[in-house]
Amino acid sequence: MSVAVVIVAGGSGFRAGGELPKQYQLIGGRPVIWWTLKAFVDHPGICHVQTVIGAGHEALFESASTEFTIGRPVIGGNSRQDSCRIGIAACLATGATKVLIHDAARPFVSADLISRIISELEQAEAVIPGIAVADTMKFAPGGTIEKTVDRQGLWSVQTPQGFNLQTIHQAHLQAHEQGVTGLTDDAAVAEKCGVKVRVIAGHPENHKLTTAHDIRAANDMLIQKLNFEHQDIRVGQGIDFHEFEDGDGVILCGVRIPHDRKLKGHSDADAAMHALTDAILGAIGEGDIGTFFPPGNPEWKDAASSMFLNKAVELLHRRNGIVANVDMTILAEAPHIAPHIGAMRIVLSPLLHLATDRIAIKATTTEKLGAIGRREGLAAFATVMVRLP
Ligand code: MG
Repeated sequence: MSVAVVIVAGGSGFRAGGELPKQYQLIGGRPVIWWTLKAFVDHPGICHVQTVIGAGHEALFESASTEFTIGRPVIGGNSRQDSCRIGIAACLATGATKVLIHDAARPFVSADLISRIISELEQAEAVIPGIAVADTMKFAPGGTIEKTVDRQGLWSVQTPQGFNLQTIHQAHLQAHEQGVTGLTDDAAVAEKCGVKVRVIAGHPENHKLTTAHDIRAANDMLIQKLNFEHQDIRVGQGIDFHEFEDGDGVILCGVRIPHDRKLKGHSDADAAMHALTDAILGAIGEGDIGTFFPPGNPEWKDAASSMFLNKAVELLHRRNGIVANVDMTILAEAPHIAPHIGAMRIVLSPLLHLATDRIAIKATTTEKLGAIGRREGLAAFATVMVRLP
């Protein structure tokens, strides 16, 4: 039996607030969808991971999923039902005979639940997880109770929902051709087609992150867990100075700031990112940028300094470490840095796997004292705290 999974991530997630759709907001330093993808990529029973994303989310998905070897995402439709049909169709060529369909916004799905759904699919054509309703249920369409609903036999259902691939593909095509819309889960599509759907016990932790409160609570829980697992706390510092030369702008933390000079250097001369890279390397006792990128090598002529930072973060991750927070100060008489700090934090956040509220960047002048005061160059200072297991 060969099992594919369709991860449905097409929604725009407005209910969760924030600047990003909820599946791309950070929890525990990673996008929600990263945790979801990891659960399935790491599961030995899954042969293919097919993601369905929203139009315009390509770059967000690319950045959230770079470390996984998975197939290209497909672009979803106008509703969840449409997106699922498109994702299921994309699995037909993979050789899979069964498919699980899972919401990207359920990042806490356990390996055990995935295994149990797969195992049940050996006998059943359709299997979904659910939680038996424990609360008393009321039917109150206008806010006034019309009746008390007998909760006996009622389930609140979750994903991953598992199906025979051909069966759910045909059921979706049939619903589409008949103009049936607005079905909010795939079991409903199967039911319409007369398929018998089995319900097995889901898990309360496998809840769907819907509101801003859900995202915050998930983040708090993961941070607490990560902190508990990473008790070896280290601090690192990095300092970098670069001279100005003729040019039309400087790059700091990956953000281009218009100026009548540029920073002199072999790479893009991003002093702020260099200081930050050295701070991380310092925290884990791995030397400095020059250890890994000897100056003058033509390979990193004009290179974006994110490659240096990525290397430092990779070395940290190899030790299963995480960045806890960053504090940077940029010392410059000109250009004016402050208006660009927000953009810098947004650039650094995915590179460090760190929420922007843990990345501080400050700018100050030297009150015209010394070389920096004479606008001959600028300097950047970075302090980071990292946590290791
Ligand atoms: Mg430098």
